Amino acid sequence: MSLMKSWVESANSVDAPFPLNNLPCGVFSAKGTASEDEPHCGMAIGDFVLDVTALEAEGLLRLDGGPLLDVPFWNAVMEAGPEVWASLRAQITGLLKAGASKRFLVEDHLVALKKARLEMPFLVSEYTDFYAGRHHATNVGTMFRGAENALPPNWLHIPIGYNGRASSVVVSGTEVRRPWGQVKGPDHAVPAFQPSRRFDIELEMGAVVGVPSEGPVTVAEADAMIFGYVLLNDWSARDIQAWEYQPLGPFQAKATATTISPWVVMKAALEPFRVSTPPREVPLLPHLQEPGPMLYDIALEVGLTPAGGAETVISRTNYREMYYSTAQQLAHHTTSGCPMNAGDLLGSGTISGPDKDSRGSLLELSWGGKEPIPVAGGTRTFIEDNDTLTLRGHAQGDGYTIGFGDCAGKVIPALSDPYAR
Ligand code: MN
Repeated sequence: MSLMKSWVESANSVDAPFPLNNLPCGVFSAKGTASEDEPHCGMAIGDFVLDVTALEAEGLLRLDGGPLLDVPFWNAVMEAGPEVWASLRAQITGLLKAGASKRFLVEDHLVALKKARLEMPFLVSEYTDFYAGRHHATNVGTMFRGAENALPPNWLHIPIGYNGRASSVVVSGTEVRRPWGQVKGPDHAVPAFQPSRRFDIELEMGAVVGVPSEGPVTVAEADAMIFGYVLLNDWSARDIQAWEYQPLGPFQAKATATTISPWVVMKAALEPFRVSTPPREVPLLPHLQEPGPMLYDIALEVGLTPAGGAETVISRTNYREMYYSTAQQLAHHTTSGCPMNAGDLLGSGTISGPDKDSRGSLLELSWGGKEPIPVAGGTRTFIEDNDTLTLRGHAQGDGYTIGFGDCAGKVIPALSDPYAR
């Protein structure tokens, strides 16, 4: 696969994140356009967002079962299934490719990205987060249980997860307020209720389920259900988590916010970048074995920018480091008969690489707060007030790039008293 040329010139450079090969799905509004009063669905192309809500309304885009884009979220398209996804991409490609005859009808529906306000791209029906990165699980396990018991006994057999809160998922650019919570006191003393002092990120990918399911599905069926992927930051209050998580897992530590990138990159755009999960240390039970490569080669990085300061890239890693793919996680998720719905969001788990500078959380980067890391103008163990954390990711094709848009959030100070009325 090489660059597909578009008449939108800014889409044709090797490092443009939104070439014709990508066509990610978002929701936007822009002053002075048809989307000013209610946001529209759009697909990014070069330096623009293409107003696909308007294209469908004018009959330039026809989707089976439509209209599907007359609401400010992509769920109806997602639920319509793989044939509609392919038809959407084929029609938009036909309208935007170099030499397209309908260019003069489409040009009016391009809105400059810098004028567009990006909203949540879909309604999150439910949110599940996993713990499926081996380097992350090993690092965290070593810190809390020692190197010999780093991985729990189930870890090499199932992708461990917990049910998160759909209501807490926000789009990039949303400020995140430092949470209060109950944390462990000195031995046998009463715990304290205070603002989190160990507020952290988790660098993850999020998969968005399109096709619903009832009952168990195979890994291959699970892969076919996935509509696309986003970058995902699972904000985590480590001090709250350490006190609350036994024996039922994370609860309030993970409920403040989870930030996603504004563009859902459809699975079709990522096909050329499929890679296999690493070799299995122990064979998986048959229902979790993969029939083919289901991870993706996506380079990832995290930038930390203090208030008024310069950004430092604090981590560089790759999605291919995961031990379990989302297809395996989704298959596992359904083994109990759990129904899955369009708009289900699955966090991959923190994506850490094997090296010190490829760790996907500050907990690991600062080794539990013991080894501060350098950032512009100082050091960090955990996030300080008014730091902005930015996740970026891209797949590098032959002469083109597939980008996701930044997944950024600024941490603003805790309230002085969360119960003040
Ligand atoms: Mn997580």
